Amino acid sequence: MSLLPAVRSRDEADLYLELHPCLRCGSMEGAWGEAPTAQGARPAYRYTGRCADCGETREFVFALPDGRVAPAAAGPHPTTRFGGPEPSALLDPGEWLLVADWCAEASDVAERQGDDAEAAELRWTAVAAVEEICKFLPEAADAVPESAFWSARGRGVYQREPGRFRRRRLVVVRDHHLNHMPWSPS
Ligand SMILES: [Zn+2]
Repeated sequence: MSLLPAVRSRDEADLYLELHPCLRCGSMEGAWGEAPTAQGARPAYRYTGRCADCGETREFVFALPDGRVAPAAAGPHPTTRFGGPEPSALLDPGEWLLVADWCAEASDVAERQGDDAEAAELRWTAVAAVEEICKFLPEAADAVPESAFWSARGRGVYQREPGRFRRRRLVVVRDHHLNHMPWSPS
């Protein structure tokens, strides 16, 4: 198993696992165990599990940012939920937009079902995902550059609708989600 780029937080690791279903059967089900490990002298963090559907053994080994022995807990604010000010090395901006869209849709469903707590949590995650896209905006640039997209999935999202990665549009979407919070979990 090759070493993955540095994981900033537990929530970022969880998202990465969800975005990478079982290669053999496509299932996302399975329980994960986690433990610190090392790749040479470099501290790393290993997630291992077994696919609930086909039994395939699954493993992901993430590098850790300098000085950490485990992924950080989620930060309290949407901008810190998944990590610090540095852009993600695991999910590209297109994948973050997919996460934001999925969470916003799921939030609408939860709200219609009267589950305000779940709706708020999902809406909050959508805001955090949009904040992650903004971390890929070069200072003073008015859009995320195409070179920031490295995954096939993320590039597909960009090519379908590059306009969604303009700074102004990202701010509007973030504010829309913030204005649709049933209440703010904290
Ligand atoms: Zn499987």
